[in-house]
Amino acid sequence: MRLRIHEDGIRTIVEEGIQKSLTACLQCSKCGGGCAHLDEFDLSPRQVIEYLLDCLDEQVLNSRTIWLCGKNCTGCEVICPVGIPLSEIMATLRKEATRRGIEPKYEQPSLIYHKYEHCSKHRREGEEG
Ligand code: SF4
Ligand code: SF4
Repeated sequence: MRLRIHEDGIRTIVEEGIQKSLTACLQCSKCGGGCAHLDEFDLSPRQVIEYLLDCLDEQVLNSRTIWLCGKNCTGCEVICPVGIPLSEIMATLRKEATRRGIEPKYEQPSLIYHKYEHCSKHRREGEEG
């Protein structure tokens, strides 16, 4: 059993996953500015990093943001001046929330998923465009 989870908080798991220290974050908010789905979030991507650094694990794992951030989206990673892979971080946070039995926090699936499913459906039906 990895007791380090309780000693150091989830920040350690995240940093091990991305092989980068979260202290690299400049707290510049460029990630949020480049995210088309910011309005759906309760924590901005910048705040997720800030809260992880402050060991506010419960707030992060109980946020809507970690469930609504797009899978495989690199929209903010390419904007981020230090290349913080937020999509990867959110995936780790979802995994950890699930491991702790925390239910997803959203009333409806993200527009991101709606769009993905819409595109998949039309691909399946052989439609173009
Ligand atoms: S763009 Fe990058 S450096 Fe700036 S707040 Fe977001 S994660 Fe941090
Ligand atoms: S990974 Fe995509 S959805 Fe998530 S915060 Fe960045 S731009 Fe927004």
